[in-house]
Amino acid sequence: MKILFAASECAPFIKTGGLADVVSALPKALAPLGADVRTLLPAYGALGALVASGTEVLRLEDMRIIAAEAQGQKLMLVDHPRLFDRPGNPYVGPNGRDWPDNHLRYAALGQAAAAICRVGADGWVPDILHAHDWQAGLGPAYLRLGPACPVKVVTSIHNIAFQGNFPAEIMPALRLPERAFSIDGLEYHGQVSYLKAGLVYADKITTVSPTYARELLTPEFGMGFEGLLAARRPDLSGILNGVDLTAWDPETDPALAANFSLRSIRRRKQNRQAIIDRFGLTIAPDAPLFCFVSRLTWQKGVDLLLDALPRLIGHGAGLVVLGSGDAELEAGFVGAAYRMSGHVGVEIGYDEDLSHLIQGGADCIVIPSRFEPCGLTQLYGLRYGSVPLVARTGGLSDTIIDANDAALSARVATGFQFSANRAEALGDAIERVIECFGNRALWNTLIRRGMNHPVGWEHSAQTYLNLYRGLIESDA
Ligand code: ADP
Repeated sequence: MKILFAASECAPFIKTGGLADVVSALPKALAPLGADVRTLLPAYGALGALVASGTEVLRLEDMRIIAAEAQGQKLMLVDHPRLFDRPGNPYVGPNGRDWPDNHLRYAALGQAAAAICRVGADGWVPDILHAHDWQAGLGPAYLRLGPACPVKVVTSIHNIAFQGNFPAEIMPALRLPERAFSIDGLEYHGQVSYLKAGLVYADKITTVSPTYARELLTPEFGMGFEGLLAARRPDLSGILNGVDLTAWDPETDPALAANFSLRSIRRRKQNRQAIIDRFGLTIAPDAPLFCFVSRLTWQKGVDLLLDALPRLIGHGAGLVVLGSGDAELEAGFVGAAYRMSGHVGVEIGYDEDLSHLIQGGADCIVIPSRFEPCGLTQLYGLRYGSVPLVARTGGLSDTIIDANDAALSARVATGFQFSANRAEALGDAIERVIECFGNRALWNTLIRRGMNHPVGWEHSAQTYLNLYRGLIESDA
């Protein structure tokens, strides 16, 4: 079975969030099940060396498709220097604003995906096009609105807040039939929506957790797409994300100050110390060290955490923050680190190695998201012994079992939950964590259960495979 992934990110080559981790890990988990996945990515500036090392497998009007293999992944790169050969973040320029030609850039990704499905790349023709998020959403449109093609389409929603909506004026530049700009096509409240294109022209739609799949059917979470998704309900499923167990392995992770496993869990302390030293914290050994590794945006509930900070600090606990995003939220944490130095340490920026060290040394990872399609950092927390404290929403509620009395006596608790979107409830939950941390036996039980919890891709990869197989067989 041959699958073409089309996406805008793939770790470790280009990453701004969880999408990159999934696009990187899922093909590796599908390979042993017999799926040959190639991942189509824009050839951003950061991927220049890969382009140079690869071979041309398809030439289109104004771009080339280059096949390259790296880090066990089979990539296909859309080589269109005028659109993609730019440094830094894939979506925004140095001024922090979206590139003004993003509609053309991700149209090119879609055109490339459809072309590979139609004519193949050096003889390789996929059975399935799997489009990820809005950036790949035009791929299904180009495929379905051109001459008939047997390739089936799956579109995955990693976060419905990102919809790729552009003014109607871009329509002629997309070179799609005019009829596509309709309510049954990619027209969305007078705009062109790349995500809607991906959904309308897909045979199956997936999202990244069962709870988010249900939430998406409500106005609160569907963000305008709830009606469309309700109409496609038989084709919609939620498949939980997993962890790349080789990229995230505390026994071998080179980013840690000390590698550890459950058997050598004492060594974990060295990572905690490394964080404390790096951020100049002065918290006591019996005080928990919380962490927050995230994009700093409204979605992630950053303001709720800022509001709850006095209660966390009031009990002598510490917090380290690694993230970047909205200037106001960044300033909120920088100010807190200044006012509460010794207890709050902040690094504004993106640092993959530091994110691993923090997971491997902090006692508790806080994820107070207002909505969270799946969330990966709670899974990394489980695997690295950083007990998750999460908002009860989306994939967070699917993956973490709250340490309430019933769950504790049933020996299934893996972390802490609180009612999403409520600073007061977050403060209460932080106090529960602090109290529980004081009970070493109980705390160690949570760590042990989390580290033993299966967070890999095996189960979900099989579910994707069944989905692909069902589509292919539906034609047979
Ligand atoms: P989202 O995709 O919404 O940003 P996820 O939890 O699904 O959230 O995935 C976030 C990914 O990005 C994780 O791998 C996390 O470790 C990583 N990450 C987020 N912010 C940073 C940062 N500032 N530095 C390093 N890694 C980060």
